[in-house]
Amino acid sequence: MPENDSERSHSQHIPGATPAYADDLYCPECGYSLRGLTSKRCPECGLLLDFIESGTPMIPWERRRDLDWLRAYWQTVLMVIFRSRKFCRAFYQPVSYSDAQAFRWVSILHVYVPALFTLGVVHYLHPDLLPRAADETGWWFVVFVCLCALLALIVLTGLPSYFFHPKYLSVERQNRAVALSYYGCAPLALAAIVLLGMCVGGVLLRSASPIATVWLPGALLLKLILAICWTRWGVIGSRTLRRLGRRLLVYCVMPLLVVGVGFFGILIGLPLAAYFIALALYSLRGGPGG
Ligand SMILES: [Zn+2]
Repeated sequence: MPENDSERSHSQHIPGATPAYADDLYCPECGYSLRGLTSKRCPECGLLLDFIESGTPMIPWERRRDLDWLRAYWQTVLMVIFRSRKFCRAFYQPVSYSDAQAFRWVSILHVYVPALFTLGVVHYLHPDLLPRAADETGWWFVVFVCLCALLALIVLTGLPSYFFHPKYLSVERQNRAVALSYYGCAPLALAAIVLLGMCVGGVLLRSASPIATVWLPGALLLKLILAICWTRWGVIGSRTLRRLGRRLLVYCVMPLLVVGVGFFGILIGLPLAAYFIALALYSLRGGPGG
């Protein structure tokens, strides 16, 4: 397995310094193996390694049993959004895959539950809208669209991880990069605030037309949140994947794939296909009721 010069292991001893680091620690800035190193600075890039000695997990979410999970979750969200370089320092040691998956699912729920609530508010504001859609196909179609939205979120938060295990990294570092990639969806948590704001705005402005003042700006904010996710995946890719080609894949190809499969394929394509198939079947049988 090819490794660049900065990743070669070695040993440096400084009298009176800290005990030697374990085998599986790497400098999060430059990828230098810290095996056997007793200095408090990375000899390759000069990074102060004091955060290693604290022994505290870098990612607040991994400390949720001490912090309480909601506080740990939002601390992690803010860290990924505003202090992503510091967040990526977690790469120096093994990153828990199960914790990362749990974080991903909590993020999915932060979008999905408020989105269902928003659908309820839309039904309250426009009582004819959903029954009209159900008239043509049946209520199963509304449920099907809701399930497609959940599937799209699963793809959106999971697909990027496939770009984070290149063969040129050791298996251990591939595992860390994949686990960190799941935290890239952290900005999705902001969608909960936007969606709830849209619900409140929609109800307050129900007598006026809330489309221009609430729904369109809300939709733009949701797109902005997706763009922030994209940039966070880019930063995590830059800090963990090292090579330019792979980083370009994360920046350029990954968003196209996520939007193509998740948005156009699952969120738009599947319901449209189901809709037209249902209409064709109903026209043969004479309506949704048979
Ligand atoms: Zn370094």
